[in-house]
Amino acid sequence: MTHRPARDAKTSAHGLAAPGPTADAAPVPADPAPQDPGTAAPAEPVLSVRDLSVRFRMRGGRDIAAVSDASFDLRPGECLALVGESGCGKSVLASALLGLLPRNATTAGQALAGGIDLLAADERTLARTVRGRRVGLVPQSPSAHLTPVRTVRSQLRETVRELTGARKTALRQATEAAAERAAFPADHLDRYPHQLSGGLAQRAATALALVGDAPLLLADEPTTGLDRDLVDRTVDELRRHADAGHALLMITHDLAAAERIADRVAVMYAGRVVELTDARAFFGTPGPRHPYARGLLDALPERAFAPIPGMPPELGDLPEGCAFAARCARTTSACGTLPALDAGTACHHPHEEAPRA
Ligand code: SF4
Repeated sequence: MTHRPARDAKTSAHGLAAPGPTADAAPVPADPAPQDPGTAAPAEPVLSVRDLSVRFRMRGGRDIAAVSDASFDLRPGECLALVGESGCGKSVLASALLGLLPRNATTAGQALAGGIDLLAADERTLARTVRGRRVGLVPQSPSAHLTPVRTVRSQLRETVRELTGARKTALRQATEAAAERAAFPADHLDRYPHQLSGGLAQRAATALALVGDAPLLLADEPTTGLDRDLVDRTVDELRRHADAGHALLMITHDLAAAERIADRVAVMYAGRVVELTDARAFFGTPGPRHPYARGLLDALPERAFAPIPGMPPELGDLPEGCAFAARCARTTSACGTLPALDAGTACHHPHEEAPRA
């Protein structure tokens, strides 16, 4: 595996710059696209990730395997929920897609969006062509993402001007329309971030993320810190965005939110995708097939309320075989070999699929 050093991501909060030339990379074959039942035409992926890995080089020469060999496609109108415990690599994966990794990171693999390999593109291409235009971001900490000394209107207006080219009256109207799209109240537009509740800051950040109408939206823990009602409203807004034909990668540890929004679910454990499956099958019948994924659901208070024993392994000291073995009730000697993701599950002894009717 060849690793590339991370770019020096010196960007503004939204990573925007004036439009510029595109540095296209040669596309690689992806897995076969499913047929759209309405048109019988294949739906091309908006994002195609192959063998994405991220390593952090620490002082003393130690390597942290934050993400290993992640592969998935994301198509228009589809929401993929990337779930797992804190520290499993979800947000590092999102940062890699936006070129926002720190300088001690290296990446390997490929992530194609609109013909651009997001892992190989230079900072100029990412700033001018990708961030906000091809890939929008709803950030993990909206209040930290907003500029504290400028009103929401000012920040939204600047983003609208950069991404749409609107001026004067059209700019004012487009700014207010952008706020309305994220249900941000017009009478709060002249407030500063510190004058907003957590929910309104979330809506402001969502409004900024939606301005460019990017084909792909990354939502990194967009419901953190919100009460259940606001979680549902935020998730429903994002779902509407996907239903309008955009691809949505929602990174979350909130399984209730994932169940509400997702078409498919990818479960990460110790930096690897260990289950990738249809959301209805995952949350309903037959349920997760990977023991860790099943444990995540069983830990929910509304289910068995049975926590997974033990702790995740250190990403700098992973075992050679399955990283879940020390916590798994199904482990055998076969688990000393790393299981590949096969038919949506990376496990030597997955739970059975439900018998077909
Ligand atoms: S590979 Fe083995 S240890 Fe890992 S989850 Fe499956 S059964 Fe458990």
